[in-house]
Amino acid sequence: MSLDAGNNAGRVVILLGPPGAGKGTQAVRLAADRGIPHISTGDLFRSNIKQDTDLGKRAKGFLESGQLVPDELVLEMLFDRVGASDCGGGYLLDGFPRTLPQAQALTAALGAQSWASLLLEVPDDAIVGRACGRLLCRDCSNIQHSEFAPPAKEGVCDSCGGELYRRSDDEPDVVKKRLDVYHDETQPMVDYYRDLGSLVTIDGNQKPDAVFEDLRRQLDGGLSPQSRGGQA
Ligand code: AMP
Repeated sequence: MSLDAGNNAGRVVILLGPPGAGKGTQAVRLAADRGIPHISTGDLFRSNIKQDTDLGKRAKGFLESGQLVPDELVLEMLFDRVGASDCGGGYLLDGFPRTLPQAQALTAALGAQSWASLLLEVPDDAIVGRACGRLLCRDCSNIQHSEFAPPAKEGVCDSCGGELYRRSDDEPDVVKKRLDVYHDETQPMVDYYRDLGSLVTIDGNQKPDAVFEDLRRQLDGGLSPQSRGGQA
């Protein structure tokens, strides 16, 4: 499948960046804009935990302490999800991959399918402030912020009217732990995409609309992200 500017049919979009960089917010908008499913491994784990599934029971402790869930569990869950028929026309990955083995497994699974990887860069000190005010909708996964995107009615999602809640792993200590994990375990995965020559970097420390426009411009071919199996 080729990577045609302005045509993302079948393309897999990989959104990378530290926790709290705004990946979730941008992923929801970008997936809707491209008409492809938004696949967030964090959301999949939270949904499994809420439903108290076997996977949820095994993942819970890792999420609560800000650690990464072991690769086998993540890979099984992720490949099961992207194997569903709604992902046949491409999909957007948010929060996956997070380790080098996950990235390598994804590359192998994608084979000749076209993909693009984009990195949202935000300095650590900006992240702690952002994550600490974050509010998540229980029903539609919309993300708001007590300071930067306050809901019109307290505790109620602007998008669907669902209940907004704070993630337990957005407490400052856990956010700092997640940042440590990002630098130790996730950075090698970012380097892997950089070494492949396929990483497009976006300044995530701007207003959400500006970040979104940068992401769109890149995907529409502005600075032509590369793909494997497509026309580089
Ligand atoms: P997120 O919503 O992406 O910030 O993810 C929340 C938590 O889910 C992380 O802190 C990890 O505990 C777990 N998690 C999500 N995605 C992954 C992944 N790709 N690999 C390992 N753990 C993950």
